[in-house]
Amino acid sequence: MNLFEEAFEVIERIEEAGGEAYIVGGAVRDLLTGRAIGDIDIATSLTPGDVQNTFEKVIPVGIEHGTVIVRHKGTSFEVTTFRTEEGYEDFRHPDEVTFVSDIKEDLARRDFTMNAIAMDRQQNIIDPFRGKEAIEQKLIQAVGEPDERFREDPLRMIRAARFASKLGYSLEPSTQEALAKQAPLLRHIAVERISVEFLKLLAGDQFQNGLEILVETNLIHELPVLREGFMLDQHTPSLSLQTWPETIVFFLKKGFGDSVQDWVKSWKLSNQIRRNSEHLYEMTALLERDGKVTPWLAYQLKDDCLDAFSRIVIASGKVEQGTLEAIRNEKSLLPIRSRKDLVFSSTDLINLFPDRQKGPWIGEGLLEIERAVVQGSVDNDHDQIKKWVQQWNLHGKD
Ligand code: ATP
Ligand code: MG
Repeated sequence: MNLFEEAFEVIERIEEAGGEAYIVGGAVRDLLTGRAIGDIDIATSLTPGDVQNTFEKVIPVGIEHGTVIVRHKGTSFEVTTFRTEEGYEDFRHPDEVTFVSDIKEDLARRDFTMNAIAMDRQQNIIDPFRGKEAIEQKLIQAVGEPDERFREDPLRMIRAARFASKLGYSLEPSTQEALAKQAPLLRHIAVERISVEFLKLLAGDQFQNGLEILVETNLIHELPVLREGFMLDQHTPSLSLQTWPETIVFFLKKGFGDSVQDWVKSWKLSNQIRRNSEHLYEMTALLERDGKVTPWLAYQLKDDCLDAFSRIVIASGKVEQGTLEAIRNEKSLLPIRSRKDLVFSSTDLINLFPDRQKGPWIGEGLLEIERAVVQGSVDNDHDQIKKWVQQWNLHGKD
């Protein structure tokens, strides 16, 4: 409740400045459903300029849409001026944002009734679209005329599916019908916006529910790479995927897309995501080859890909040592953490073979030493490595 108290202090300050303000959207919904609260959004009658003048620490993140971030006691609150949205000519951004003075008008522009509830500082609920009822019935229901609302902003359709995944709710029938009818409009939406919602869908507790909606409404056909041939039972992961790299690897292995690059291009993802996806892909290939998490795999697996790797292993329904704990354990037992820890250098190697010309053999030789040490066939000890190297030379290594 602490976060709410702080939000109420922000609201109080706005009221002292002569404005009106409410907690809105996800925070109210999550409070009413007894869920963990993410961020708290505040809607106000004050203009962004007036909000800036009322607080010391304000970050102007989206002034044209009426949004600023207020920092209060170390917490960030998104404070947005009451507004309506009109136009949506290009299906991307509202043509025109009009600031209004009534919270009810602001609630009317919101996507679903459960997200269109406001709460004041005394914890009174303002719920003109009966969002509480929808929450009780576990229904996702568009505010107003569903067809119109989806035409206005087709992104709302995939948002409906991602809330179904997060909350486990069903679609209210007329909302579902409109979704099935308007699904093709999603192709007008920038893929970057879809990507955010799709990842949240996969990450939800009830992701099967979200995927089912994508398939039932044909929304799946509007998603890059996944659009053809998606079958619920065959292609549904067995746990929720949390990041893009594991999502890409999971679906690549199910036959969607030609390569990591194909996914990254089609979904306009970052280079960082591409690099981590390629790494994960290599690591899962190694796992498949060896049938278990070997020391060599644990050694190569990047720390920031550990969680993703273990989820993908479980999602694909494989090996027991794929669990996070088992991989961590394997990592903790490693004699070295990186090549820097190796007590044998390329100079040492060259000195052992003064007659040999420099060439790729040096790198290859070092890699073999590294692998031998990691696998425990040689200790990370200068003399022992030296002996071992001299030995493999005897066997005609070139
Ligand atoms: P979460 O907790 O998952 O973030 P949320 O409800 O806070 O859920 P956001 O995407 O953060 O979802 O949006 C905040 C609020 O803004 C929503 O509750 C909704 O009222 C409104 N909103 C967001 N996107 C849209 C949209 N495309 N159309 C209409 N209203 C929207
Ligand atoms: Mg939110």
